[in-house]
Amino acid sequence: MDIGSILKRAIQINKKKIKKSYKDKSKKIKIGIMGGTFDPIHYGHLATAEAVRVKYKLDKVIFIPSGNPPHKEDRYIIKKLFRYNMTLLATMSNEYFEVSSMEIDREGNSYTIDTLAMLKKIYPHSELYFITGADALSQIEDWKNVQENFDLATFVGATRPGVDFTHVKNKIKNLESKYRAKILNIHVPSLDISSTNLRERLKRKESIKYLLPENVEKYIYKYNIYR
Ligand code: ATP
Ligand code: MG
Repeated sequence: MDIGSILKRAIQINKKKIKKSYKDKSKKIKIGIMGGTFDPIHYGHLATAEAVRVKYKLDKVIFIPSGNPPHKEDRYIIKKLFRYNMTLLATMSNEYFEVSSMEIDREGNSYTIDTLAMLKKIYPHSELYFITGADALSQIEDWKNVQENFDLATFVGATRPGVDFTHVKNKIKNLESKYRAKILNIHVPSLDISSTNLRERLKRKESIKYLLPENVEKYIYKYNIYR
């Protein structure tokens, strides 16, 4: 099947998942949120989300590609639609993963606080678990409305190669007492993959095989996204 048809299929599958999960709106469910630029999405993101889903028995994980990330203004971020489509392709084979366009549809900068508030509105009885890699968790105090973020969701800090986890654990303790935050942590099988490195490899025309899902790889080549 060509990648255009696979993408159409991925869009349909995601619609079905959303429709199905809307039925759970009034139930007390546990929802994981995996936010990121996903420029491009890779196995580090997917393995982290899956590990958290299993360990904390989440009913589903919603992947939310950021619209206009305030902290990444300095770099050219490929079209939102490319990042959204790659996220759809990457998650199509996992029945517990769905993709939301709420941040890319929103005007202005993307802030996690707006996303959490919107999810709470849609799923008023749910428990929200916001998943972050260790690097992102270390910078969480730079986010807009830090206290409100912690009031609305439990955070899960995942290990990430290159980030000292003892340091992260101390940071967690500190945040817990300062904000009365609920922060869990998880050890994820180390995948030393980053979108930055993937973009560099693509620029240098090096292989990216086995670092991200094959359909994402095909999509990148088809539209020559990172030239
Ligand atoms: P970039 O290099 O462009 O910053 P990235 O690989 O860090 O890209 P992001 O979209 O910035 O990807 O990350 C989204 C979330 O996924 C962040 O919380 C980040 O910490 C986490 N994450 C990304 N890669 C990994 C990985 N290999 N292992 C664990 N967590 C990861
Ligand atoms: Mg990053």
